[in-house]
Formats: sequence, structure tokens, C-alpha cells
Amino acid sequence: MSLSLQGIGVSKGIAIGNVYIIHHEPVEINEYCVQSPHLPDEIERFENAISLAREQLLHIRKRVPKNSTIDIAAFIDAHLLMLEDSLLSQIPIDLIYEHQCNAEWALKMQCDSIVQSFEQIADPYLSARQNDVKHVVTRIQRILAGYQDSSLESASLSNAIIIADDLSPADTVLMQHHGILAFATESGGITSHTAILARSLGIPAIVGLQRVRSYIQADDTVIVDGSEGFILAEPDERSLCYYQRRQSQEKRYRSALSKIKASPTITRDGTSISLQANIEFPEDIKAVKRVGGKEIGLYRTEFLFMNRTQPPDEEEHLEAYRRVIQEAAPVTIRTLDLGADKQIVDNRQHHYSFITNPALSLRGIRLCLKEQNLFKAQLRAILRASALGEVRMMIPMVSDQSEIIQVYKIVEHLKNDLRQQSIKFDPSMPIGVMVEVPALAICSDLIAPHVDFLSIGTNDLIQYTLAADRNDQSVNYLYNPLHPAILRLIKMSIDGATQAGKPISMCGEMANDKRYVRLLLGLGLRTFSVNPESYLEVKKIINNTDMSHLPSLAVRMLDMTSQAERAELLEAINYES
Ligand code: PEP
Ligand code: MG
Repeated sequence: MSLSLQGIGVSKGIAIGNVYIIHHEPVEINEYCVQSPHLPDEIERFENAISLAREQLLHIRKRVPKNSTIDIAAFIDAHLLMLEDSLLSQIPIDLIYEHQCNAEWALKMQCDSIVQSFEQIADPYLSARQNDVKHVVTRIQRILAGYQDSSLESASLSNAIIIADDLSPADTVLMQHHGILAFATESGGITSHTAILARSLGIPAIVGLQRVRSYIQADDTVIVDGSEGFILAEPDERSLCYYQRRQSQEKRYRSALSKIKASPTITRDGTSISLQANIEFPEDIKAVKRVGGKEIGLYRTEFLFMNRTQPPDEEEHLEAYRRVIQEAAPVTIRTLDLGADKQIVDNRQHHYSFITNPALSLRGIRLCLKEQNLFKAQLRAILRASALGEVRMMIPMVSDQSEIIQVYKIVEHLKNDLRQQSIKFDPSMPIGVMVEVPALAICSDLIAPHVDFLSIGTNDLIQYTLAADRNDQSVNYLYNPLHPAILRLIKMSIDGATQAGKPISMCGEMANDKRYVRLLLGLGLRTFSVNPESYLEVKKIINNTDMSHLPSLAVRMLDMTSQAERAELLEAINYES
């Protein structure tokens, strides 16, 4: 019998395929006593588990794609080294003897003690190693408990539909290389990074499918409808035919859209609009070119840091940027925005877990100003990249002018170093800020004169303004781009930048949403930076828009308290005459 489950569609499209379920839950560990005569058997069981863990990791390592941008192989090598280390391979054996306990318990005691010693280390990179220890220990514990290896790295995911409790950004980086069809998760929000990445990869995705793993089993055939946000398991013949037809319609729609690839982005009454693209990986540039895009309005760089234990060095940064700059101009490189929803190794086991509010803590520019070595390697690479093409540097999570002053100071310092070393850079490389914190939007008129450009990041601006965690499905209903507070902040930011004569764009997900394109044009936005998947749809709307009546309609929305009235007005704005 067919079964349908409703969640939140976060990436459009239809996928039909078989399910692969990912379990992240830790194994439950209990202590039991092992009598002396059985201790050698217990130790043999432990040693066999270590050998099997090694075999699994070597198998995964062989399957890492050669052209992977993320150093997954190094990540796996680090885990292999840990398996060899006496901390994990010998001390648990000593503990089994000493406590006459089972292998799982001995391993747990040892893991707790390692993690505790890591927690006393202030350095975030060393501290992040505790996640690796936990990963390796969990692998051994799962083997001891007799579980199959269901980790993402080892699976054969080609043409699979992934179902999981949640996926960290690091998981989705691994998924990128596997040719999966879609994913569905029990938690997550519309602007979580996994959702954004799914959109940029162009695969359907649904989040907030509560308890989906209790109803759907591995290998079930399912249909994922990312537009409507539902999943249909074991569909009957009629449903299957219906969705196959819709898949073909979608394909035809996309190919019709591609006809406007080469046309300029200009409204019917002649206003030129700048349409730029958001990317996460250098490879994404191919998708941008497929839709005829040339300018990069947001290059998120934190993905270079995921699934590894050491940060990338200056040369590695530079190499990634070079690959993008060869193909696009200008390229807006956003400096590191780690923290909160973009953890380095694993979202669920991060080292900030003791912080009450990671989203209000050390993330983005705050982390960079604290970890200056990390920051300087990236800044030097960005400066060097500016000699290769048109590069702009953008700072995330700015809340105060003092942060901008500090960044400028560091950049000036680095420029002097580069001059002394006779290394080329563009001395007038523009430096801009993201408007993501309400304080910056409110003070945009004060900040704009001190920067070269601004870009509105609605994903965070909405989260911080409405005090609704972008990843928390229980407050997802509050996450509303049409809230007058959001619209006023957007208008304020555009006006503040315009008065100062500084360009302002929007690179948050709101700019990707067909429903809001005309409203944003009416509020004065002239530069949109969108995912390659949405690029042509946004262009089509702009090209079909008559601007003349939009500003007066858009400003009316700023004073409407009723969501129903705003929805009605939005319909009028989007009405095709
Ligand atoms: C935003 O906050 O809107 C944004 C573009 O940045 P990110 O989604 O990477 O936090
Ligand atoms: Mg942001």
C-alpha cells in the first residue's frame, strides 16, 4: 500500500528511486563483567573490531573520487592513523583486563577520557579532533554491536534517495560526489546549509519529515516531490505514471527556459538588472556557465574546511579561487563563515556544543578576528587572487563598524607584506559587507560610506530579526520573508547604500524565490545573486516585469500587519498583465 508523508520542500524537482537510510544515532553502550577465563576472547573480539574498522576505512578510501575538491582522503587517513594509535588500540585492552569489563565499555571509558582532555584545549582545530575520535570510536562500537556499516562514505549511493535524521553540511559535501537523486530528512529548516546545497546541486530535497525512518525502509521505492514537500512510498502504477510525466514536463520546462540564457537581464521598461550567481565549490562554476551566468555574487568558502582535520593553507585557498576566477568575473569571495550551522567537522558533535547559542556566538567575522592565523591565510590568498582577475572580498556576520576597521587594518598589513615580497595583488580590490545582522541593516546609512559594497543575506537577517533559528523546524512557521520588519530592514539597507552611492545586492535565499522578485525590484533592489538552479527563472520574471507601478505597491507592504493582506498584495504585484 502507498504511504504519503508531508514535510517542507526545500529544493524543487521530482525524484523516483530506491531508499538508502543513514543512521547517525550513537550505539547504546552497557557495561558488563567478563570473567577472567573469558578475557582473552573479549580482547580478540576487540582486536577483530579494530581490524574490520580498518578494512572499512581502506575500502572507503579507495572509493574517494580523484577530482574531489574536499580532501576526503586526508580525513579518512586521519581516522586510519587513529586506529593505529595505542590510545585506541592498546589502552582499551589494558582497561578490559583492569576492570574485567566488556570491550564496548572499555572503549567508552577511553573515549570519554580522550574527549575530556581535548575539551581543555582552546585551539578550535585541535579541539575539533575530538570529533574524529568520536567518529572512529562510533565506527568500532557499531562493529562490536554487530551493525552493518551504514555510513555515508562507504555506501553505494548512485541513484539512491537518501533518508536520514539530519545531514550535516559535511555529509552533503560527501554526497556531492555520489550521484544521489534526492534527500529527505527528519529535521532541518528551509535555509539550513544542507537545503541550500541541495538547491545548488539541483537535487530535490525535503526536510522536517518527522519520524520518516519509522515508516520507510531501506530499498523501498519512493517518489520525492521537492516542490510540494512530500514523499510517497511504494507508489501504485497510476502515481508512478503521473510523476514520471511530471518529471518529463519539468525537463521540457528547463529546456525552454534555457532559450533565454544569452539574453540580457532587463525589465520590459528598460531597467537593467545585474543577475549574479551563488556558488559553494569551484565545480559549481560549470552550473553557472550552463545557465549563461558570468558574475559570482557570493562564493561561500567554508566548504573548503569540511571533512578534514587541518585547515587549508594559503596555496590551497588560492588554487580554489583560481579555478573560479578563470571562468567568472567579478568573483565575490566571502571570507570564512564558520560557526553555528557551518561547523567544521560534524554538525551534531561540534565543539561548541557547550555554548547555549552558537548562532549568537563566535561565527563568521567574529571567529576570524579571534583566529587570525586562519583568517590571514585566507586574506592573503584572496589578495593574491585579485591579481588574477576581478575579485571582491565580502565579510560575513558584521554587526559593528569596529569589525570592519579591524579587517581593513589586517588587510593593509598583509598588502605591505605582499609588496615587500614582490607578490602581485590588486591594491584597490573592493571590500564589502554582508547585511545579515539587523543592527547593520538599521545602521546601513552609517556603515555604507566606509565599505565598497553591501549584500543582504536574508537567511541570517530573517533568523536574527525574528529570533527564529533557521535550522529549527519547530519555529519554521515564523521564518517569514514577508514580515514587515524584514521588508523594512531590506528597504532601509537599500536606501542606506543608495544614499552613500554604494552598490547593494541580495544573496540570501529570498532573492531566489520567484514570488519575491518583483517585490524586491519594487523595494529598489537592482542586483540579485541567486543559485544556478534559480538563475533562469529569476531572469525570466525580471524580463517580464514592468517596473512603473512596482515601487508604490511594494512600499504599501511595509505598513501591512496582516499576512493575508500582504499575500493578496503580493498576488497583485505578481499578476501577469
Ligand atoms: C545569508 O545569510 O543570507 C547568506 C547568504 O549567508 P549563509 O546562508 O551562507 O549564512
Ligand atoms: Mg549568512
